[in-house]
Amino acid sequence: MTKIIPLKLDYDNNGRIFTVYPTLIFDERDMVMIDCGYPKTFDKIHELASEKGIDFAFLTKIIVTHNDIDHMGALGQFKRSYPSIEIIASHLQAQYISGEQTAIRLQLAQHAYQQAEDHKRNQIQKLIDILNSVESVTVDRRVSDQEVIDVCGGLKIIYTPGHLPGHISVYHMESRTLIAGDALVSEFGKLELAHPKSNLDGAQARISAHLLSELDIDTVICYHGGPYAGNIKEELESL
Ligand SMILES: [Zn+2]
Repeated sequence: MTKIIPLKLDYDNNGRIFTVYPTLIFDERDMVMIDCGYPKTFDKIHELASEKGIDFAFLTKIIVTHNDIDHMGALGQFKRSYPSIEIIASHLQAQYISGEQTAIRLQLAQHAYQQAEDHKRNQIQKLIDILNSVESVTVDRRVSDQEVIDVCGGLKIIYTPGHLPGHISVYHMESRTLIAGDALVSEFGKLELAHPKSNLDGAQARISAHLLSELDIDTVICYHGGPYAGNIKEELESL
C-alpha cells in the first residue's frame, strides 16, 4: 500500500517564515521524495520525517520539479548522505540542476546587476550570492513528458513549463494525486498560479494549468500551500 506524506517545512529566513511541502511517496520497496527544501533544511526535514515514523535510510529517489533554491537547496546534502539515491529531473532542468548551464534566475540577476545603478547593486549582489550558494548535483535520470517512473503505483511525469522552462509535476496514478511543484499554489482555500513575479512565462503557466485539468485528480499537493482537495477540475479550467 503506497503512502503519500507531505512534510510541512517551515524555513526561517531572518524572521520571515516560508512554508513549503517536500512530499514523500513510499511503499515496501521504494521511497521517493519530490523536492527537498532550502539549503540547511536537511536536518529539519529529517526531524519532520522521524516524527511521522519515516526513516530516510529507505530513500531511493529524489525528483526535482525545477532548480529553484527552495526545491533543491538541500539536494547536495541528501546525495552525499545517501549516495545510492537516483536524482530525477526533466531533460532541460537537469542541465541547470547539474550546473551544465547557469541557472536562469542567476542569469537574470547578473543581467539586472549590470543594468542597475550603483546604489542598487549591493542588494542584487546579495541575491546573486544566495543563488550562487546553491550546490549543483548530477542528475541520474532525465525524464520526458508523460514518462512513467515505475515505482509506488506509477509516477507519471507531466511537463508543466511556465514557472520555469522544463518544470515538471508528478502524477501518482494509483491515488490520483498530483504533486504540482510550483505549477500551482494553494492559498485562501483555492488553487492559483504561482505569483506572476516568480513565473518566468505566465501565459505558459496558464496553459500548463489547463493541461492539468484533463487529468483525473483527487488531491493536489502544492509545494507552496500543501494538500488541496476542492473542486480541482473546475478550478484549473477557470485559471
Ligand atoms: Zn518554489
